[in-house]
Amino acid sequence: MAKRDILIIPDTRLRLKSEPVATIGKDVRALVDDMFETMYAAPGIGLAAIQIGVPWRVVTMDLARNDEPKAPQVFINPEVTWTSDDTATYEEGCLSIPEYYEEVARPKSVKVRYLDIEGKEQEIAADGLLATCLQHEIDHTNGVLFIDYISKLKRDMIVRKFKKAQKRGEPVKPLSEDKEPSHHIG
Ligand SMILES: [Zn+2]
Repeated sequence: MAKRDILIIPDTRLRLKSEPVATIGKDVRALVDDMFETMYAAPGIGLAAIQIGVPWRVVTMDLARNDEPKAPQVFINPEVTWTSDDTATYEEGCLSIPEYYEEVARPKSVKVRYLDIEGKEQEIAADGLLATCLQHEIDHTNGVLFIDYISKLKRDMIVRKFKKAQKRGEPVKPLSEDKEPSHHIG
């Protein structure tokens, strides 16, 4: 296992549409191991393979709180098959857009079909944080970021800050200091 670097905006690979996994072999299992190590180290509660530069439709997640035992989950080729009309709003963050948090409204409940690590087809009904996190990560497999749901004005400002920081070779400075880092979705 190895911890990998997480891509940060404006890295254009984050906008790629990832490819479905055809066979779950050694390479996919090794990728999943690396994703968990990277996600736990960040720390984040979810990660999509493209965030470490691998354009495959693979998502790792662990929604356990700090005082709970680890609960790793893997979703291969995940696909939203149903969404509720009701929406829920969460303050989202992203490991690829560190230190920025914005409220995003998404369907409150979803059904997601995916393959587990054994290659078996599964479907889950999710709501709450799991529903939000699944939608956030599945968006990554389609090249979509949570800032795509906020105002263009705010999005442009955030992207500009990251472009400038990249030019300077420095990490970006947070907009405000009073936000909880625990909101990092992934
Ligand atoms: Zn993210």
